[in-house]
Amino acid sequence: MQFDTIAAIATPLGTAGISVIRVSGDEAISKVNSIFKGKNLNHVQSHTIHYGHILNKDLSILDEVMVSVFIAPRSFTKENVVEISTHGGILITQLVLERILETGIKLAEPGEFSKRAFLNGRIDLVQAEAIMDIIHATNENAIKVANKALHKETSALIDSLKSKVLTMIAQIEVNIDYPEYDDAIVMSHEIIYPRVVDLLEEINHILIHSKKTQLIRDGVKTVIIGRPNVGKSSLLNALLNEERAIVSDIEGTTRDTIDAYINLQGVTLHLVDTAGIRTSNDFIESIGIDRSKKAIKDAELILLVLDTSVELTPEDLELLELTQHKTRIIIGNKSDLPRKLKIQQAIDISVLKKEGIETLEKEILKTLKLDNLLDKDFNYLSNMRHIQKLKEAKNALESVIDAIAKEMPVDLYLIDLTRAWNTLGEILGNHQYGDLLTELFTKFCLGK
Ligand code: GDP
Ligand code: ZN
Repeated sequence: MQFDTIAAIATPLGTAGISVIRVSGDEAISKVNSIFKGKNLNHVQSHTIHYGHILNKDLSILDEVMVSVFIAPRSFTKENVVEISTHGGILITQLVLERILETGIKLAEPGEFSKRAFLNGRIDLVQAEAIMDIIHATNENAIKVANKALHKETSALIDSLKSKVLTMIAQIEVNIDYPEYDDAIVMSHEIIYPRVVDLLEEINHILIHSKKTQLIRDGVKTVIIGRPNVGKSSLLNALLNEERAIVSDIEGTTRDTIDAYINLQGVTLHLVDTAGIRTSNDFIESIGIDRSKKAIKDAELILLVLDTSVELTPEDLELLELTQHKTRIIIGNKSDLPRKLKIQQAIDISVLKKEGIETLEKEILKTLKLDNLLDKDFNYLSNMRHIQKLKEAKNALESVIDAIAKEMPVDLYLIDLTRAWNTLGEILGNHQYGDLLTELFTKFCLGK
């Protein structure tokens, strides 16, 4: 494929030892060479690094640099790539970039290098998305999920499904197109039905396990609720203090939406809308019962705080009832005070005395089933787009089951099988590498 040559600063802008500017495309080497004083880059070998200077228009020296050359296709984008390490200042890096752009090279859009790697067939779409995920990851486990995807472990799950669907399609095609070919298996209902059932089981398995992977990647939407003065703000602050945490205003929203992120042993708790908790106003009062109902509805985890030094109030009872079908942890706070209340399933803590917080954290991970993460938990699907597509493929396969139940002729549900195959392909983004027929021919040498 033919694209413009592009360039961008690859390292974060700031004062660092060095910055790296990456250039990719047919003309990467020749154009950089035209402003470089040192070895003639047009004649160097791939994967070599060269000392020299970037020159201004008047041939004076702009910066002292190291230049790495990667010749297509042995580079990240499969194109010619030059990486220029400049001095790390913001101004000098930008001046070198501007100098590069003056040669006619275009400024890369965000993610364009990964996009090229994808379009040039170096990586599939799942891998391209994984690169973005690594950049945006908020904890180590999210990086681990993305790395699994980057190393094709996620793609392999989809590839395996795809290949099984394709085998069925191929065998049905053989039956239709070469009826005289006696050795071929006749794809009767009896043969297809159990295979589709197995596939559906496999897909369901992936979907169930993906919930965990998704929580690992995106964090767990958590709300702390409880009536005024039970200790919500104190608990939030205790959690924030103990763990590495970020509290941020979301840009473009009003001040009263404040989200906090708590990193619990690699699992991010995303505490939604903590404004009411963090200010001196009380949660229920400030956000109202309607908004807390909504918060409860959207939450993936609810921390319901009660005060064990007083009897249950009608408000407590209402909140207990509102949350009874949610994933929740009931917290009995103020265990340092004389007890008036004992709730069976509650985790007793005293935020004041810093007692029970660690037990609570363990309970949170346990309740979410994120306490003993296995290696395989990281390579299911974590991306909404992938999950959506997989569900579509599942629907298509369910239509096949339907058609079999209605005793429709085999060739009729070929359409649904093909739809399933296509949808799975869309996850990997590889529909562009050729249509079904091409893959059929390369994989199964049909009609030889
Ligand atoms: P919120 O209204 O639910 O956010 O409650 P706050 O966190 O603002 O706490 C209300 C009051 O309870 C404050 O005076 C806290 O110091 C106090 N408090 C919070 N946690 C404890 C605790 O574990 N024990 C005791 N004795 N007091 C607490
Ligand atoms: Zn409060």
